[in-house]
Amino acid sequence: MAGKPQVGVLAYQGDVREHAEMLASLGADVALVRHPAELARVDGLVIPGGESSVIDKLTRMFGMLEPLRERIAAGMPAYGTCAGLIMLADRIEGAAPGQQTIGGLDVTVQRNAFGPQVESFETLIDAPALGGPPLHATFIRAPIVAALGPAATAILTLDDGRIVGVEQGALMGTSFHPEVSGEPRLHERFLARVRARA
Ligand code: GLN
Repeated sequence: MAGKPQVGVLAYQGDVREHAEMLASLGADVALVRHPAELARVDGLVIPGGESSVIDKLTRMFGMLEPLRERIAAGMPAYGTCAGLIMLADRIEGAAPGQQTIGGLDVTVQRNAFGPQVESFETLIDAPALGGPPLHATFIRAPIVAALGPAATAILTLDDGRIVGVEQGALMGTSFHPEVSGEPRLHERFLARVRARA
């Protein structure tokens, strides 16, 4: 076995610290990633929740859009929560003017899909794909996966059938924030992928 998995959290904006703490508690070495040289040193990347149009602007300002696309195309494991899911989606509904994404997940996400009157809520989601009991999910101005292309798989859905968790190869995305509710199974799944590739 190699040493600890070396993972990064994209650290421009959003709940960077909560992800870093969750990953460290699961045994990873965690680096904050803002520049291409920092991205080059990690074997996997978490993209936090926050405001996707801001994360997009900063990603481009720091010259990170192409390096991120290249690493993802080369198979680097990545996990995006909420705004991070939006950053990993190939298509967005309700994008800000000029908003771009890194892409990689063959999905269409709808931003702010629960409407302005529903700022945030918590719910339990059945998690057969993860094993174990239903998971506590915290949704904060969350997107949903409005359409799934053939390359992507739904792993978590609400009772009404709306898709809130997807996977495609080494990529994962969730509409909600497991790092806020202290739910470790998605970060564990991400770290298992990082270990498998290292
Ligand atoms: N509404 C935000 C966006 O569209 C996402 C919210 C979140 O990450 N908690 O980027």
